[in-house]
Amino acid sequence: MKIGKIIKVSGPLVVAEGMDEANLYDVVRVGDKGLIGEIIEMRGNKASIQVYEETSGIGPGDPVITTGEPLSVELGPGLIESMFDGIQRPLNAFMEAANSPYLIKGVSVKPLNRNKRWAFTPVVKVGDKVLTGDVIGTVQETTVVLHKIIVPYGIEGTIKQIKGGEVTIDEIVCVIETSKGVKELTLVQKWPVRKGRPYSRKLNPVEPMTTGQRVIDTFFPVAKGGTASVPGPFGAGKTVVQHQIAKWGDAEIVVYVGCGERGNEMTDVLNEFPELKDPKTGESLMKRTVLIANTSNMPVAAREASIYTGITIAEYFRDMGYSVSIMADSTSRWAEALREMSGRLEEMPGDEGYPAYLGSRLADYYERAGKVICLGSEGRQGAVTAIGAVSPPGGDLSEPVTQGTLRIVKVFWGLDAQLAYKRHFPSINWLDSYSLYLEKMGVWMDEQVAPGWSSLRTDAMALLQEEANLEEIVRLVGIDALSERDRLKLEVAKSLREDYLQQNAFDEVDTYSSLDKQYKILKLVLQFEEEASRGLEAGVYLEKILNLPVRDKIARSKYVPETEISKINEISVELKKEVDKLISEGGVLDA
Ligand code: ADP
Ligand code: MG
Repeated sequence: MKIGKIIKVSGPLVVAEGMDEANLYDVVRVGDKGLIGEIIEMRGNKASIQVYEETSGIGPGDPVITTGEPLSVELGPGLIESMFDGIQRPLNAFMEAANSPYLIKGVSVKPLNRNKRWAFTPVVKVGDKVLTGDVIGTVQETTVVLHKIIVPYGIEGTIKQIKGGEVTIDEIVCVIETSKGVKELTLVQKWPVRKGRPYSRKLNPVEPMTTGQRVIDTFFPVAKGGTASVPGPFGAGKTVVQHQIAKWGDAEIVVYVGCGERGNEMTDVLNEFPELKDPKTGESLMKRTVLIANTSNMPVAAREASIYTGITIAEYFRDMGYSVSIMADSTSRWAEALREMSGRLEEMPGDEGYPAYLGSRLADYYERAGKVICLGSEGRQGAVTAIGAVSPPGGDLSEPVTQGTLRIVKVFWGLDAQLAYKRHFPSINWLDSYSLYLEKMGVWMDEQVAPGWSSLRTDAMALLQEEANLEEIVRLVGIDALSERDRLKLEVAKSLREDYLQQNAFDEVDTYSSLDKQYKILKLVLQFEEEASRGLEAGVYLEKILNLPVRDKIARSKYVPETEISKINEISVELKKEVDKLISEGGVLDA
């Protein structure tokens, strides 16, 4: 093997010559310690290498060896409940092996546990014909995840041998006779992270990936297989929104990428998720979660790889026929890593110093989302829903990362510093945000939740928009200029904001609202307008209606536990009764 030689080191960038045997995107081992790097540019026999570990102590003359392989992840049982870094080093196992709380340079630990035995149950038999993507057997990876072992890409043929039982991921469990010879399969396969995993066909998303967050599901839904971004200034609630979606989102598998943000946020996830129970399965949320952490205190280059590592793992579970959601917090920190590398490569800088290819790299992530028919004869359907936080400096949405993202994603949850300041959470601005899936998801909601869903939602949004106009009038000429009807509208809009849109992530009940509950509360809030209008028409003073005791119950309906949501219907009956009573009393103001 020919060994290259370092000629320059600049932070995470190393340039080596004598690399004529290497290819672009090869993984290389750098220096005597064998630091892990990836070739990101080739010029003649000179390779520019992005090194994923601290490069201090490395210098010109040190050796560089190519592995001849692209940056890849291992896919197999053991992914769930693990925490990896951006290039899939298993952080827990790693720290154990190195006996240190930090990553030690050059220490290599395989991503997946080699010693653990998994009970493998074959679902094919000798003589069966299989295609790429066909399931040959399963492993119950956790109480909630059935890990399907699928025939790797490029292999098809006849099963010659298959064996079940307790095996490690390196043991051969299946032998397939193919036209190109015999292939031996284990429980693990590899895939290059920068390449989307193939599928049979992309489908149009028709179903929402519900999140249990009212403002999202009702007004700005994301489809299963869709893309969404959540831009917002520091402290606006990006991390909380993403944690909420990871916790309560309707996905069978969650991949959470902590990317360049503070390390303690990942610790929060690690502490919280095992304790939290999935509302559907009643099992710990960690039992279906994979964590990738490249926090701000870790080498910057691996941050660049982390989102591709994450989405490759997401695609792998999609290929088993699961609905997967992936969150990246924050893509801005990821883009900064890209910018730093580009600067060191002395590339021509684009907008604000970001490389010209920023947009296409962002697309390389989001475009791997989708609802698909998987490879294989079964025609399974799987989905990857991709969500990314963006942290625009100073909250300025015209900056390149936000703009590059909004050109690709279909949902924009715009977090608003002023709302956050007023402690209106989630601080998703209802006037600026949008979802391009709104209409399609409305059709689904009308069919699956309640026939009146979309018209209710349209009415509610119309009221919120009208509120903005009415407030403008009030600012100019004062509240007295408004008719009672308009004042009622303002009251209902306020109730929509406070009783519906605001949702406390840290309240045991309020943290999650089922669609059924969302519908019932929204209906109740709007029913108040109807009932109040009925009262006004019958000559009741607005004041009287606004002071009805039932209003407090409406405000508290979000704290009604899921198991008791029929109580919300009772509030609606009470509302009607109280208004009836006012009308019968003639509505005179208290003396
Ligand atoms: P960012 O990631 O945008 O910097 P965070 O997600 O860390 O902001 O949120 C900052 C703080 O805002 C949180 O610590 C929490 O106190 C508050 N917060 C955000 N969202 C909610 C929510 N849905 N419910 C209650 N508090 C929230
Ligand atoms: Mg954050």
